[in-house]
Amino acid sequence: LYNQVQDLKGNIRVYCRVRPLRRQANGLSTVDHIDEGNITIITPLKYGKEGRKSFTFNKVFGPSASQGEVFSDTQPLIRSVLDGYNVCIFAYGQTGSGKTHTMIGPNDLTEETMGVNYRALSDLFMISEQRKDIISYDVSVQMIEIYNEQVRDLLVTDEIRNCSHKGLIVPDANIVPVKATSDVINLMNLGQKNRAVGSTAMNDRSSRSHSCLTVHVQGKDVASGTTLHGCMHLVDLAGSERVNKSEAVGERLKEAQHINKSLSALGDVISSLAHKNSHVPYRNSKLTQLLQDSLGGQAKTLMFVHMSPEHDAIGETISTLKFAERVSSV
Ligand code: ADP
Ligand code: MG
Repeated sequence: LYNQVQDLKGNIRVYCRVRPLRRQANGLSTVDHIDEGNITIITPLKYGKEGRKSFTFNKVFGPSASQGEVFSDTQPLIRSVLDGYNVCIFAYGQTGSGKTHTMIGPNDLTEETMGVNYRALSDLFMISEQRKDIISYDVSVQMIEIYNEQVRDLLVTDEIRNCSHKGLIVPDANIVPVKATSDVINLMNLGQKNRAVGSTAMNDRSSRSHSCLTVHVQGKDVASGTTLHGCMHLVDLAGSERVNKSEAVGERLKEAQHINKSLSALGDVISSLAHKNSHVPYRNSKLTQLLQDSLGGQAKTLMFVHMSPEHDAIGETISTLKFAERVSSV
């Protein structure tokens, strides 16, 4: 039933989320208005004749939307993972636009402010508990980071190890059985800690790498013994901002090129799926190669596209909303 409901809505959905305005912005937002799936932004003259531009998505969450509201439409996807479907949930946007806030939450986490990752997992365990007399579930997780097209396992306890370079790398990454949300929280904390290795205050690597928490679900029908397998990828993407070509040199330029390449490869894949193209270019980036089985076919994709409402972000906001519109089938 849940998949039928989902199918009616389509397998690719794009939600836009606007972060609250920073205090220094003096109340001046680039958002003119939001109406369900529509957002109208105020653009400087050079971007359009009227100085207003509208975009349409499956839904737009304004700055006052709570973490609970943002998650509520995601709940049916969790059920479909337990029904044996694959799901990808992405957070896209420039650095500082709220991707990590949506997926994890603020530093001082409370029940109220918990992000999608926690809510998805607690729903997953709750539903599997409800179904346990009919289907018994085993849940396990992997957590990886993709930086400069290299995959790194984040669930290593002793030392940070680079994975080998062969096509599908996830099988090489640790896969850890979990019984409850608290187990996953501990692993996520380990992953975050490992992720911070290699970053300094001056060099926040986390904004320039993709992180992916994968939850594997194996269900066994208690009566018949038949099994099903579903998985959910929760992906906090690298910041989508374009770096100034004249400023970026060396490592920074290389990072920027890898990010551009992988985000546009992801955009190409989702856009081909949204437009039902016969060829889907999965091979063009590590991220799309890894997620190939969970993008397209019966799989379901949800992208949260984030924007910063400040005027100095308008250039990035427009390219973000254009990217989002391209991957959307609305
Ligand atoms: P990103 O991961 O895209 O770089 P963050 O999630 O770190 O961005 O958000 C940048 C800052 O804005 C953080 O301090 C975060 O707590 C805050 N923030 C982002 N989105 C929201 C929101 N919806 N409500 C309140 N604060 C937010
Ligand atoms: Mg972040």
